Amino acid sequence: MSQNYDIYLSYNEAMVNQGFNIRVFLHRTKSMHKIIIVLLSEIDTHFTDALRQNIEKTFNHPVEVRSKINSLEYAYDPIRDQYKSPFLLSRLKRVKRSPGDKIMGVADVDLYSPGYDFVYGEADVNAGVATLSINRLITGEQDIPSNLNLYIDRIIREATHEIGHLYGLVHCSDQKCVMRTCTCVPEVDAAGGGLCNTCMENLNNNL
Ligand SMILES: [Zn+2]
Ligand SMILES: [Zn+2]
Repeated sequence: MSQNYDIYLSYNEAMVNQGFNIRVFLHRTKSMHKIIIVLLSEIDTHFTDALRQNIEKTFNHPVEVRSKINSLEYAYDPIRDQYKSPFLLSRLKRVKRSPGDKIMGVADVDLYSPGYDFVYGEADVNAGVATLSINRLITGEQDIPSNLNLYIDRIIREATHEIGHLYGLVHCSDQKCVMRTCTCVPEVDAAGGGLCNTCMENLNNNL
């Protein structure tokens, strides 16, 4: 069973309006699949605990957190001193055991995708795989404890955004909705309304 969606084939969150709007087929999976959060770097357990709880609640599917901390050297670009998000997506596809599972890899390194200065994350909708970088969401590395809740909020929003794409959600014009496009941290901080009613309705139709 499949359904048509007008959707961006690949979502690069650092830049918007690139305009490659492509009609693709999303296969709706009603089975009891999992959302697997793959830790590609050492991530503070406050962040991973909050991610697990919030993602499970929002998407109403079991969330499993796996550690897969290996060198990310294969994705490193020495010229830009950044890591290539599409390379991470390719590796993450191999983690998938069940076709319905949604995979999101979380890294603390700065990610980019060709044509973009950086990305907070990227979603390959057809593959059901996404990346998330917390690098630019943590704006005061020396002072995580006093900004913990702020960082948790940002990370949950960006994670919800990427996983939202994996469930067929598209970008939203509501500036408080997590499905808005964010090109800088103030925009992430403004997206404090969770999923707006329209996006929530779309999600419920797609779950
Ligand atoms: Zn997006
Ligand atoms: Zn929305």
